[in-house]
Amino acid sequence: MVILFAAGFFTMCAQRNQKETAIKHPSTMQYNSLTPEEESVIIHKGTERPYTGEYLNNTAEGVYVCKRCDAKLYRSSDKFDSHCGWPSFDDEIEGAVKRVRDADGRRTEIICSNCGAHLGHVFLDEGYTPRQTRHCVNSISLKFVPASQEGMTTAYFASGCFWGTEYFFMKAPGVKETSVGFMGGHVENPTYEQVCQKNTGHLETTEVVFDPSVTSYEEMVKLFFETHDFTQTNGQGPDIGPQYLSCIFYSGETEKAIAEKYIGLLTEKGYKVATMLKPASTFWKAEDYHQQYYKYKGTTPYCHKYTKIF
Ligand SMILES: [Zn+2]
Repeated sequence: MVILFAAGFFTMCAQRNQKETAIKHPSTMQYNSLTPEEESVIIHKGTERPYTGEYLNNTAEGVYVCKRCDAKLYRSSDKFDSHCGWPSFDDEIEGAVKRVRDADGRRTEIICSNCGAHLGHVFLDEGYTPRQTRHCVNSISLKFVPASQEGMTTAYFASGCFWGTEYFFMKAPGVKETSVGFMGGHVENPTYEQVCQKNTGHLETTEVVFDPSVTSYEEMVKLFFETHDFTQTNGQGPDIGPQYLSCIFYSGETEKAIAEKYIGLLTEKGYKVATMLKPASTFWKAEDYHQQYYKYKGTTPYCHKYTKIF
């Protein structure tokens, strides 16, 4: 067993040492945009440094989906601790993972069946579990969806100070969870302090997880426009700066078309809409003290109010 363990470890170490809701339906129409670090693994087949990945010790119940296309790849029930430094699974979701011969001619590479994203390698007959299979997967190639969010849809909206944006979404019918964070910039793992320096490119963004059998993306888009001044071009209310701009971060062509439809309707009504449309990218969750701010504070927003339009 010790020998097997050492062999497994060596096999991974021998690789090039490179350097990271709701489930959407896999689509080939549009993939999620990736950070340079994500691209180095997912597109250029690199390997994240061992013991550094986000999901190495994650034992929560849920499903792991492809970072690039959101296809479901692995179940948490098939994850085991191999002490190898990367998340390990002894089975994949049927048909989700394709095995191909690695360019090194020795190992077997595993890729997402839907989009071809590089996941890692698969090793057999090492003795870890009765299935004798170890999918050794880079955390950065995956996104974890907790069981509570399965079947839900996740949407992203920026409309100024995220405390105020979240305040209205978290009370909306059909919304299961909300979080505030940052999206759209070029700095990984940004802090609030960094974003306030106005040079990260990030917008204060709210993640909205809703139940599509109760509400819809259209309802979310309407609420977005009805709770802020989408004609303001330099921020929101008294909050001036690039991180306070109005933006819908869409996931896929359907969401983009819905957002465009409502911008069109508002334009017909005579509004000069300043809202930007951008493809959703990595959502960096903000510090805990920003989450559900008004709920814990017991106050109401200074910068957002509800105005019926539709
Ligand atoms: Zn994929």
